[in-house]
Amino acid sequence: PAAVMVGAGAGADAGIDRVLWTEAEIAARVSEVAAELAADLRALREPAVVVGVATGAFLFLADLVRRVDAPLAVDLVRAESYGDGTESSGRPRITSDLKVDVAGKHVVVVEDIVDTGNTVSCLIAYLEKKGASSISVCTFLDKPARRTANFQLVGDGKFYRGFECPDSFVVGYGMDYAELYRNLPYVGVLKAEMYKKDTSN
Ligand code: 5GP
Ligand code: MG
Ligand code: MG
Repeated sequence: PAAVMVGAGAGADAGIDRVLWTEAEIAARVSEVAAELAADLRALREPAVVVGVATGAFLFLADLVRRVDAPLAVDLVRAESYGDGTESSGRPRITSDLKVDVAGKHVVVVEDIVDTGNTVSCLIAYLEKKGASSISVCTFLDKPARRTANFQLVGDGKFYRGFECPDSFVVGYGMDYAELYRNLPYVGVLKAEMYKKDTSN
């Protein structure tokens, strides 16, 4: 009815220029990554600790762990390096601590996207200090073109990734621009005009 119509562009997808991976493509790829991770985790003698990085990894974490048929604990950390802009500050901080004790445990860091690598480097150092016996990284997206921080996995840790991402700022499937778009079920690129008012970088 006309009374509740607020016009085109009022949905979650307002401002999206193009879709990079659809919901179905994401689901298929997440299942593949989950199978690979599950095989590795089942080979361990004890439950692993899967550490999701809030907020961006929340959908990937939820989709991934329910497809991983292996004993595991789930916890969250919060790491912040972005303001509301599209460029990393380069100095990530961990702003929310773990609940699970990771000392002597096999840890899998679950990220939405590894870009410069600063955040993952910072998290690895943090988990290593807490005594994790191995540290793997499982990222939904990987943007290797922008890597400036070379991170090193710990122990028998492995690197898992969903897709290689082109060098554009992407949103959806957990990832935000100024805290919006996280609820999109797909990954897309914003229209250029969405950044026009962005003077934070
Ligand atoms: P890095 O520290 O590797 O440069 O960036 C890590 C974090 O920055 C990611 O976990 C993600 O939260 C954010 N980030 C990097 N690239 C993008 C992007 O293209 N889109 C969004 N929404 N966030 C990004
Ligand atoms: Mg992240
Ligand atoms: Mg963000």
